[in-house]
Amino acid sequence: MPGKSGEIIDYIKNDLERDPQDIKTIVVTHHHFDHTGILDKLKKITGAKVAIHSADADYISGEKTQHGSLFMIPIVMFMKIIYRSRPVKADILLEDGDQIGDYRVIHTPGHTSGSICLYNPINKVLFVGDNLMYSNDKIEGPRVVHEPENYKKSIEKLRNLDMGVILTGHEQPITSGANNRLDTFLTELYD
Ligand SMILES: [Zn+2]
Ligand SMILES: [Zn+2]
Repeated sequence: MPGKSGEIIDYIKNDLERDPQDIKTIVVTHHHFDHTGILDKLKKITGAKVAIHSADADYISGEKTQHGSLFMIPIVMFMKIIYRSRPVKADILLEDGDQIGDYRVIHTPGHTSGSICLYNPINKVLFVGDNLMYSNDKIEGPRVVHEPENYKKSIEKLRNLDMGVILTGHEQPITSGANNRLDTFLTELYD
């Protein structure tokens, strides 16, 4: 979120006890402003490369404008001006199946065209960005789905992963029964 760079840098220094310049790559799950609002600042402070799926890259570079409701567009524009968010040119364009460290990129278009998940088969952690929400003990879909025709197929790709923890972009992590919870969500999605 815009305005949060200080908080993130403090976390890296004080909680993780690492130098911000130890960060080599910032992986962006999708282009939405609440996930990229301080990308320019973090890139500058850390010197890290920015990686994003090719289908979302033009939104962070400013070549395309974030699509969204007529209500959201002026709010995003207003926040960009207030927080002086600058566009960022991606250093790494990701595609489905790419590997970043121990994480595999899974392209899951739906929430945005270039939404990705990141899966680590060693510790069984799955980052889902905004592809899934988790509230009241239940997996739900995101409120905004730009490509509804692709969304179900994308989530179906996650079904066969062995998942210990699912980390969502906004809610609490899912730390138990991740596979069963996803199965339930998918069944309801097909009803
Ligand atoms: Zn989003
Ligand atoms: Zn979000």
